[in-house]
Amino acid sequence: MSTTSGSPEIVVDLGAIRANARLLATHTGVDLIAVVKADGYGHGMAQAARAAVEGGARWLAVATPEEALALRRTEPGTRILCWLTTPTTDYAACLAADLDVTAYTVAELDAIAAAGAREARVQLKVDTGLSRGGAARADWDALFARARQGEVDGAWRITGLWSHFAASDEPDHPANDAQEKVFSEAVDLARAAGLRPEIVHLANSAAAILRPSARFDAVRCGIALYGLDPAPGAVGDDGLRCADIGLRPAMTVRAPLVMVKDVDAGAGVSYGHRWIAPAPTTVGLVPLGYGDGVPRHASADPTRPGAEVLVEGRRRPIRGRICMDQFVIDLDGDRPPPGTTAMLFGAGDDGEPTAQDWAEASGTINYEIVTRIGGRMSRSYVDETGVDESRVDGGQR
Ligand SMILES: *Cc1c(COP(=O)(O)O)cnc(C)c1O
Repeated sequence: MSTTSGSPEIVVDLGAIRANARLLATHTGVDLIAVVKADGYGHGMAQAARAAVEGGARWLAVATPEEALALRRTEPGTRILCWLTTPTTDYAACLAADLDVTAYTVAELDAIAAAGAREARVQLKVDTGLSRGGAARADWDALFARARQGEVDGAWRITGLWSHFAASDEPDHPANDAQEKVFSEAVDLARAAGLRPEIVHLANSAAAILRPSARFDAVRCGIALYGLDPAPGAVGDDGLRCADIGLRPAMTVRAPLVMVKDVDAGAGVSYGHRWIAPAPTTVGLVPLGYGDGVPRHASADPTRPGAEVLVEGRRRPIRGRICMDQFVIDLDGDRPPPGTTAMLFGAGDDGEPTAQDWAEASGTINYEIVTRIGGRMSRSYVDETGVDESRVDGGQR
């Protein structure tokens, strides 16, 4: 069967995001914080957020205050957490928009107070071993004391206490046990300082699924919401793999072939002639490249096979380098008409590659594939995946 499409496009199945949210909330049994930063990992922040809330997410989360302010306009009634403020963050705007902001330091709490905070919502992030953002252990006492003082002053309520794993996609990594233990100590210390956060949370997608002990009051799920596996192959503490809970990839990327032609044996293909046709064949031109977020690292060269796309029901290998605007695939003698759809990746139902396949071909993670794709492509939305209640059973399918 030969399907055609008009121009390169990203199609996002909002039903899949809704169903994934439902699965994650049910499987973990705690509040779901749906992470929609970086334009919803490339799926569209507003649309992804709406679908996640419809699927049962109680909270939304993004990295920057700017993202959170934009999200507030489309989600007036849902709690929104952000965590990446800068020295110039406009806390007054954040507080006016009813955001839950995150403080890592006493200086940030002072800045929030200076912005005229009254009954503001503030969460505290502690560093438990990632050594990225969050309060270093030596500073916890001062942070918790200042946080409590602000509560007494009526400036804010501390609504959350949280941290982030370094290696939750490697369930056997010793950092996981260590961080969870340190986090529990932080929770105890905060309580001893008089704080009563609404939610304490530690787990991202991989930990939410693989590590039941890390679920606390809520889980912050990003990649799993979009149906991609945060830890391919890894087995969790209860014997489940992430793939076992029935997540469904939400994003499809496709483009029409714009040209099909013959090449002779010995012809060099694409920049640098990194592929030389060993025999006569036909090739197709796909009008997408790294200018659209198709990773150049997925090029094929003599040392690596590169990624594949699906055309007329068959996987077709990329030949030579992916360029800024286009790349070449091997059609092995077939001559599909221009306009025939080339599926770069999708849910895999028709045999098309997945974002995970592209990640493996490019030496990266599926997160980066979906988050960077876009460029000149249009993005549209469908609503195809129903919530299949028989799958919403904590993994026993
Ligand atoms: C991005 C991010 C998440 C979501 O991680 P996933 O692995 O996509 O679930 C959670 N917490 C923090 C702090 C993040 O930066």
